[in-house]
Amino acid sequence: MNITQTSFKDKVLDLSINGVYVYDLIQGTNLYINQQYTSLTGYSLDDINDMDHAEFFSLFHPEDQEEVANHMSLVPTLLPDEISIIEYRFKRKDGSWMWCRSHDSIFERDHEEKPTQFMGAFIDFSSQKVAEAKLASNNRKLQSKNQELEQMSYIISHDLQEPLRTITNFSGLISRKYEGKLDEKGNQYLSIISQASARMGKMVRGILALHSKSTSSPKTEIDCEALLSSVITELSAVIEEKNVVIEIGELPRVFSWENDLRLLFQNLISNAIKFSKSEGIPEISISAIQKDRAWAFSVQDNGIGIDPRYHREIFRIFERLHSKDSYEGTGIGLAHCKKIVDKLGGEIWVESKPEQGSTFTFTVSIG
Ligand code: ADP
Repeated sequence: MNITQTSFKDKVLDLSINGVYVYDLIQGTNLYINQQYTSLTGYSLDDINDMDHAEFFSLFHPEDQEEVANHMSLVPTLLPDEISIIEYRFKRKDGSWMWCRSHDSIFERDHEEKPTQFMGAFIDFSSQKVAEAKLASNNRKLQSKNQELEQMSYIISHDLQEPLRTITNFSGLISRKYEGKLDEKGNQYLSIISQASARMGKMVRGILALHSKSTSSPKTEIDCEALLSSVITELSAVIEEKNVVIEIGELPRVFSWENDLRLLFQNLISNAIKFSKSEGIPEISISAIQKDRAWAFSVQDNGIGIDPRYHREIFRIFERLHSKDSYEGTGIGLAHCKKIVDKLGGEIWVESKPEQGSTFTFTVSIG
């Protein structure tokens, strides 16, 4: 292949997907534009050079003109290898707007090292900007739909409390008033009604807690060791009943919302106790390590474990892997944990295998 340096450079410039220009700072005109410049903007070199400065400047979007003016006064001050990058909207010859990202640097200097020409290469990234704007607008719509759904589910749960109270009260009334008068089947049906309404009450309260507007209480410095010992005291009845051994490692002080952290530990420790194996001593260990700018807290148990297929699903509301007869529950606890961790700007996940225990970890940012 026999290529002269000039034809090679010309070819590269003509094939370039960037628009390229060379601007002469002394004459105040463009010395060169490549083919892609014209393809992207519609302007030839003559079109541009026929415009005066004000006319050319008016091709930049009014909202971007100040930034472009700053950029233009900065470019002549650039060091030899320095590049200045700017994004702006530019009006094409057909009147439509395009988003440009341009890299500019000094091309020529005089014998006193004063810049005389600068060179720029730009791409048209309008489609990316349109996609970004669409994504942002879809996100906003999604957020507002989510809020609407949360509010609806809060209202429904709230309103369900009244008929539920009536069912509970009247089934209590029947069992007291007709004590000894109902046959075995009647008593059995009544007991099923009261169990079902008690369960529904738990679900309704769970949904209310999940969607209740969090109070605007400020963040405080929390001594996690003290918090944990208070959570464990609250769970002491079940801890004693199941002979659970709990080991707590060194825990930090964090700046966060105490009630949220308390709920997280309560849910995770209650689950670790609830899903213990039927044989052997349930052992739970709670620890924290620093990971970049966050604390990662772990609650580890030696319980029944979770198949990796369900490691994501269990954080969805009402997702349960067992029937209510084998393990009592509503399937709201981990969804609530996920919601709290989202609010804290952290993450929550589980590492587990069936029969090999589970480790739930969540992160809380430092500060
Ligand atoms: P609930 O405890 O009321 O069933 P959760 O949302 O707290 O609801 O948990 C969802 C499901 O995840 C549980 O039903 C259980 O199948 C599984 N799970 C949660 N924690 C553990 C754990 N420590 N060990 C084993 N399985 C667990």
